[in-house]
Amino acid sequence: MARSALYLSKSRLISAWQCPKKLHLEKHFPELGKVSRQTEALIEAGHRVGAVAQTLYGGADAVAVRFDFRTMLAETQALIDGGADFPLFEASFRFEGVLVRVDVMLPDAGGWRVIEVKSSTSVKDYHVLDCAIQDWVLRNSGIKVLSVSLAHINNQFIYQGDGNFDGLFLEHDLTDEVRLLEPRVVELLAKARVAVGGPMPEVNVGAHCSSPFACQFSAHCWPHDTRYPIRGLGGNQAKLGEFVALGCRDILDVDENSLTSATQRRIHRVTSKGEAEILDGARGVLTALPYPRYYLDFETIAPAVPFWRGTRPFQAIPVQWSVHIEDESAIRHDEFLDLSGAAPMRALAERLIAVLGDSGPVLMYTNYEQQVLNNLIEICDDLAAPLRAIVARLFDLHPVVRDNYYHPEMLGSWSIKAVLPCIAPHMSYAALDGIQEGTAASEGFLEAIGLADNAAAPPTAARKAELREQLLRYCRFDTEAMVEIVRFFSSMSGERNA
Ligand code: SF4
Repeated sequence: MARSALYLSKSRLISAWQCPKKLHLEKHFPELGKVSRQTEALIEAGHRVGAVAQTLYGGADAVAVRFDFRTMLAETQALIDGGADFPLFEASFRFEGVLVRVDVMLPDAGGWRVIEVKSSTSVKDYHVLDCAIQDWVLRNSGIKVLSVSLAHINNQFIYQGDGNFDGLFLEHDLTDEVRLLEPRVVELLAKARVAVGGPMPEVNVGAHCSSPFACQFSAHCWPHDTRYPIRGLGGNQAKLGEFVALGCRDILDVDENSLTSATQRRIHRVTSKGEAEILDGARGVLTALPYPRYYLDFETIAPAVPFWRGTRPFQAIPVQWSVHIEDESAIRHDEFLDLSGAAPMRALAERLIAVLGDSGPVLMYTNYEQQVLNNLIEICDDLAAPLRAIVARLFDLHPVVRDNYYHPEMLGSWSIKAVLPCIAPHMSYAALDGIQEGTAASEGFLEAIGLADNAAAPPTAARKAELREQLLRYCRFDTEAMVEIVRFFSSMSGERNA
């Protein structure tokens, strides 16, 4: 392949830094990748963050360069040649086949201050490399770069409304670090060219498959065509990669004696046995829980750019709950969901306080509900006392299940979605219509209130009704699942294995 044809974007170079095989697959076999819903949501959040950055950094004379790369390169060149002395957004440059699009360029003292905007909440190693690539291309394109900074989200920023986002970003001057990395940029480019222009690089799986980004080719590269794929052992990914390099594909291919983690040894032991292991502890703990029992689940949103007054970036904001209320003889259900688009937190909190009363354990699965309640206390501080009283009644089912149950089909996960099909095969998240997991629920809520990042228009009434039904069903299913879990373990007669 001719060198001139090897155009590489900055993100492709970062891929090569993470794993040359990843870059090769992105270029030649993108269809083998599976981008997760969470990753797609982050990309969309990044667009929203970028748009806010433009309003903060731009004046009336700012110019945003748009359209395809070829047009952007030409337009940028024309602006620079014309002596631009106003903020530029998305200005695009190319050097040695590397294409970069600069989030923000601010004219200053005959040169430019360059700002890269990220929707993360801190500076990461790869951000510095990212900025170094940008700096290298710009300076070699004849741009006088005075400084290179990274602007990331300030997660302590509290939105006060009226579209005022002053303080949303924290800026770090990385100029010195970036300049030191110049030799590494040149090395990386050489490595990336080989990865793209040569045969598939031979790279074993390992920790790099999930850091700094979850690789979209994980399902392709990690062994997956066995009954108990080795990744189900969990734990140290580098160590698992070593097992794969030795030819292990299935959990049962691994010698149990080579496992040092107690959890991995347990997973291996139960998987080898081929049947669930149930310890006696869960029954005693769960049957001792007094009535009434409340089973609580929240659905949340966590926008990078807040849109409700009093909320922070990425704060998990409850927008919906489901509660099952059980006494000795009956069980009933209550729920909250407001799709008006108005901030629902206060009404949500008041209804929750009323429904949960003042006594009885409030069961949750993992301590996420506790985090959400703490966020709610922050947002509705005048309701802090009754909300703290609820926090004091929380009972986490997760450690009880984790310590007392494992089934080979759980493949190393004690999430409610992994446990439920093993104890209650008649209940399946996969059978739910539409929304089947938390990210989809967040997106569904935002779509229903007309605030989805990718929405071209508000939802129709029919679509909103459909989303309402799916959201209610999904959240209710979570608390039904908890009820089922408690019933399952409470009915065990004390034997160690199912
Ligand atoms: S899954 Fe791992 S080995 Fe495969 S391309 Fe991604 S990072 Fe590289």
